[in-house]
Amino acid sequence: MHHFQYKNDELYCESVSVSKIAEEIGTPFYLYSHATLKRHFKTFDNAFGAIERLVCFSAKANTNLAILRLFQSLGSGLDIVSGGELYRGIKAGFLPEKIVYSGVGKTIDEIDYALNSGILMFNVESLEELTLIQTRAKTLNKQAPIALRVNPDVDPKTHPYISTGLKKNKFGIESDVALEVYKAAMKMEHIRIVGIDCHIGSQITDTTPFKDALEKIKLLINTLKELGISIQYLDMGGGLGITYADEDPPHPDEYAKVLVNSLKETSLTLILEPGRVIVGNAGILVTSVLYSKRGEIKKFIIVDAGMNDLMRPTLYDAYHAIEPVKKPKGDFIKADVVGPICETGDFLALDRNIANVGKGDLLAVMSAGAYGFAMSSNYCSRPRCAEVMVHQDHFEVIRRRETFQDLNRGESIPSFLE
Ligand SMILES: *Cc1c(COP(=O)(O)O)cnc(C)c1O
Repeated sequence: MHHFQYKNDELYCESVSVSKIAEEIGTPFYLYSHATLKRHFKTFDNAFGAIERLVCFSAKANTNLAILRLFQSLGSGLDIVSGGELYRGIKAGFLPEKIVYSGVGKTIDEIDYALNSGILMFNVESLEELTLIQTRAKTLNKQAPIALRVNPDVDPKTHPYISTGLKKNKFGIESDVALEVYKAAMKMEHIRIVGIDCHIGSQITDTTPFKDALEKIKLLINTLKELGISIQYLDMGGGLGITYADEDPPHPDEYAKVLVNSLKETSLTLILEPGRVIVGNAGILVTSVLYSKRGEIKKFIIVDAGMNDLMRPTLYDAYHAIEPVKKPKGDFIKADVVGPICETGDFLALDRNIANVGKGDLLAVMSAGAYGFAMSSNYCSRPRCAEVMVHQDHFEVIRRRETFQDLNRGESIPSFLE
């Protein structure tokens, strides 16, 4: 991470001192490096330079408008999974023709919104969904461009909560069933078949599952051709992993090579939906130490960021490196880094060897740019934290810290309780 670096034992994001930002806006906050975001997007996109492709950033990894706008300005498309993400995408300036819509539970309102917006395609996950899209398109007098999300039944060898391409997962349509659904789609007047899609999971650190999935999808494309169904877009989803601790995921060039080599001779346009690989290591979570205490068998460092700010450690048992913003002199200790929330699951790290920090010191939770703020909540009536973007020697708040007034926005006391 070239843009989060120590200068004289103090952590900088590009040319801005992290503690200076904390002094000005308080903690906790997410901090993103503009240069890193840009480099990661361009590296990924350029890796596929040899073929027709559209990289659609996966909004759910980080939906901040400023981040979406940055990728939009770099030529990205957008992968969405809800009407809310479509709204954000349009607000950020994405052309609907560059938006693909995945997800197993699209509602009527969401389908209508996407049809009226004119998105590039729906990644359809069941026959019932397809039938509903046909009905809504007919009502609205539109043609709905669709791909079927196929479940290729490959094991991505990742955390079970983030594997999505196995037969036991709720996602997609099994390959053999997919043929039948394509045949049904062919007969639907308001459905236009444009693609085929798969997304096998997240934080994948090996190219083999992608290669296996692609081979299965290509066989299916050939069978479809024999049936007279021609496919324009091949959407291989997202899922490329990053280094949190000692993982060694393939570089985007290596990942791209696997796909590009297999697609060069075709006329397909490749769509990709990367999320984590673009934003994960472009952001950190900055938190202050509130207290430390020593139990009989453990030491605890209590910080002002909790599981409501960063859920990954408790949800996935995820590892995030935690670094002191100012390197203290002295020894390392072994401690749990925990938040203020009344849950045993409220931790950022367990039994971690960590610099011996104390009250008032700042810590940086690394690799927090993906599924960090986006998964945050107001649990325990904690206002959601601020988000900041650094550009060279300048920083701006891209989402202000919530206030207490934000907490009960939309709530009301019913007349019978007044
Ligand atoms: C979450 C998701 C992605 C992005 O996954 P990453 O692992 O962050 O790259 C892409 N496509 C779909 C359909 C998703 O649900």
